[in-house]
This record gives sequence, C-alpha cells and structure tokens, in this order.
Amino acid sequence: MDGVERDVVVVGAGFAGLAAARRLREAGKRVRVLDARDRVGGRVMRGNLAGQTIDLGGQWVGMGHDRLSALAVEAGCSLKPQYVQGDKLLSVGGRQKRYQGLIPPVSPGALAGMGWVLWRLRQLQRGVPGHTPWESTKAEALDACTVARWRDRNLPTADGRALFDVATRAVLCVEPDQVSMLAFLHYLAANGDFETLTSTVEGAQAATVEGGMHALARYLAEPLGAELRLDTPVTAISQQGTRLVIQTTAGDVHARRVIVAMAPAMAGRIAMTPFSAEREQLAQRMPMGSVIKVQVAYAQPFWRAQGLSGEMVSDTAVFSPVFDNSPADGSVGLLVGFIDGAEALRWSGRPEERRRAVIESLVQSLGEAAAQPIDYVDQDWIADPWSRGCYTGVPTPGTLSRLGPALRAPCGAVHWAGTETAEAWCGYIEGALSSGERAADEVLEALA
Ligand SMILES: Cc1cc2nc3c(=O)[nH]c(=O)nc-3n(C[C@H](O)[C@H](O)[C@H](O)COP(=O)(O)OP(=O)(O)OC[C@H]3O[C@@H](n4cnc5c(N)ncnc54)[C@H](O)[C@@H]3O)c2cc1C
Repeated sequence: MDGVERDVVVVGAGFAGLAAARRLREAGKRVRVLDARDRVGGRVMRGNLAGQTIDLGGQWVGMGHDRLSALAVEAGCSLKPQYVQGDKLLSVGGRQKRYQGLIPPVSPGALAGMGWVLWRLRQLQRGVPGHTPWESTKAEALDACTVARWRDRNLPTADGRALFDVATRAVLCVEPDQVSMLAFLHYLAANGDFETLTSTVEGAQAATVEGGMHALARYLAEPLGAELRLDTPVTAISQQGTRLVIQTTAGDVHARRVIVAMAPAMAGRIAMTPFSAEREQLAQRMPMGSVIKVQVAYAQPFWRAQGLSGEMVSDTAVFSPVFDNSPADGSVGLLVGFIDGAEALRWSGRPEERRRAVIESLVQSLGEAAAQPIDYVDQDWIADPWSRGCYTGVPTPGTLSRLGPALRAPCGAVHWAGTETAEAWCGYIEGALSSGERAADEVLEALA
C-alpha cells in the first residue's frame, strides 16, 4: 500500500468507522477504511447455532435507537420484537420465583429498597449531562464514590443489593466496586435510565434484526469495495508536514485526516505522533468490561410450553441474564445470555468447563429438559485480540471527571469515533453510528 494517499483514512470497520466512511463518501471525500480483522462489524459478529444465523456480539435494537432502526429498514431487514410471552424467572438469595411485569418477587423490604434506588438514580442522573458528564456540579465527588459504596448506603437488604449487583453487571460487565457513580450515572443518562437499560419491551433489548445485526455491518461496508482493507492492523499514526502517515502491517497510507473508530483502550495501542497525554492516559484508565456471550439450542423452545418467557435472572447462576432467542416460527429453541463481570474472568479460557456450568445452571432453572441441548456456542470477548473485552470501555473511578474531555477532543489531525465517544446511547451500536457521523462532520469542517 506504500504511497497510497486519501483525503481521510478511517481505522476500524465497526459500526462507528463504517458510519463515518459513509458520511465522508457522501460528501465526495476519498476514503480508505482499514481493519485488523478479516471481517467487518467489530463487536458485532455473525455465528451459527443449530443451523440458525445468530449474533455472537451486539444484537438488540433498543427503544430510541433511531439510526439503527432506520438502517435496518434501509437494508431491507425487518425487526423482530423480543419474545416476552409468559413468566420470567428470578432467583435471588437461593429462591427461584416466577413473575410477570416489571416488579420482581422479592421481600417487601428489598422491593421498597429497589424502588427508592431507582427513584434516587433518576434524580441524580438529572445532574449529569449525557454528553459532558465531567461538567456536572458534583463531578469529582461522584467520580470518587464507587457504585458499590453508594449501593451499601442506599440498599439495606441483602436481596436488594444482590438484585442491584446483577443488574449493574448486566449493563456494564464490571463489578460495582470497579466503577464510579459519575461513570454509572453518565451511562444511565446517555441511555435513558436504569430501567430502560435492563428492560426488553420499551427498553434496550426491545427487538432483534432478522438475518442478524452483522448483516447491517456488511450492508454499510458493501459500497466501499476495494477501499476497505481487512487483515490490516494499524500500528502507528504520525504527522509528517501536512500529511498523516498511517503505518500498517501491509505498508503505509497517507491522508489529510484520520478517524480512529474504536474503544479508547484499543486506540491506545496505536503509537501516535503527535501525542495527547490526556488521550493516552484515558486509554489506560478506561478498560473494557468482561463478558462471554453464550447461546444454547434445544429441539424446541420447551420453556414456552411451561408458560415461561425464557427470561431469567439469578444472583448465583453462572449464566445470567438469559433471554429467548428462538426464530419467529419457534422451529428450534434458542436461549441467549451472558457470563459477565468477575464471573466472565473466572470462566475465560475454560471453554469445556464453562459449557458444563452453563448447562447445569439452565437445568437448575428450567429442569431436566435443559440437560440435552442440540447445539451450543459461546464467544469469549475478553480473549478477542481486537476487542480485549466488551460491551464497552468503562472508566475507572476518578477518570471521567479528569480525562473525560479527551474522549472526543481531536489530537492534531486525528479524530476519535467509537461508541465510547458518543454523546447519547454510548456503549450501544446506536452510539457507534452517531459517533462516526460526528467525527466525519468534524473532518468535513476541517477540510472545508
Ligand atoms: C457480547 C456483546 C453484546 C452486545 N449487545 C449489544 C446489543 O444488544 N445492542 C447494542 O446496541 N450493542 C450491543 N453491544 C455493543 C456494541 O456491539 C458496540 O457498542 C458496537 O458494536 C461498537 O462499535 P464501534 O464501531 O464503536 O467499535 P468496534 O465494533 O469495536 O469497532 C472497532 C474496530 O476497530 C478494529 N481495530 C482495533 N484495533 C485496530 C487496529 N490497531 N488497526 C485496525 N483496526 C483495529 C477492530 O477490529 C474493530 O473492527 C454488545 C457487544 C458485545 C460484545
């Protein structure tokens, strides 16, 4: 590739990079997109289970994810509402109960505690701007307090605390003592609220894409043709005169502007000249969450016949939360769920043992019918060298208040995209798309 020159090089062919490239090309710019992997989509990835095409990474379209919904329509893919008929299962404090609706079957004390906490979080998030959380009046104090400390002060019962921890892990894939209240409230403010994030109907898990979310990444990438270069890790970006030199394992590319479209932790692995001390340190202090996504197939969705929706949450099971992921015709029964936070670290690198542990946990919840799956697949995102964890980068306590502005501040002619940089829906595909468009607009203004 030596000597190749483009107006803009986009590094990363996830949804952020693909959205940036699309907007730049629509404005008539010569764009090249480089990705380290042999496929597009980044944290969105295609898989196969029992003959069905599935998503091993991001899959749900949430309420308010308008860009993503519009993209699905444009690509000719319909949205399938998440299956929610029947009772959910909740297991907290060693007791499993069935329930419907939003109110979990826990003790009156735990319920009152959860009600108070949800109300209090909604109050607190009002003081944290979704796009500039570091500007909130109590930014430093909130950034110095971990979610675990706040939880202990606000939730008196063990069941209430256990339920809160399960939900926090499911949302961020970190433990409550690894994240500050500022980062947590920012995530809530940028994504609706805690209930939206943990809900199916009218929440972040509202619908899936027929044919798979990854089909939308391929749809965005298709017009790029030969300007998309896969298997091309970028190792360094340096300013030389008025040009940027993008070093890859397949040679150099030159450009007037670069958009680096990936999580800060991954961007931090690219050697940068010029160099931003704040961006560099942010990259070191915004590690990825820990998650293994698991899918299990059965000959039929047998739980439906038991009046169950397939939605399960447990404070002790390896595999939680879980949802029904069966095709619309119910021709085969698929369950999808997560091993997250500290549990994901515990089970990473142990594929056979974790498969057994997952099936055992399903047998405990659903009975012996769960003992005989016809297929199984999981994706350990911690072990993925081009993600190094998921769903998203989570700033450590004390980071967002000090280094937050470096998320989006361009570094010379280098601009930043990626869901972590989004002003709304950060952590989600919707945020990735908007971040790419925002970075493209910055570049277009700079090149005008
Ligand atoms: C298990 C899981 C479940 C999820 N569930 C959902 C969901 O249901 N709904 C939802 O909206 N979101 C979900 N997400 C989150 C969603 O997938 C991400 O927010 C989104 O895909 C991020 O897109 P991105 O473009 O910002 O980053 P990425 O997708 O990470 O793209 C970055 C790209 O940069 C490339 N790259 C990295 N380093 C280099 C380098 N040095 N050189 C060249 N290329 C490089 C990577 O290969 C990658 O393709 C989930 C994620 C996971 C993993």
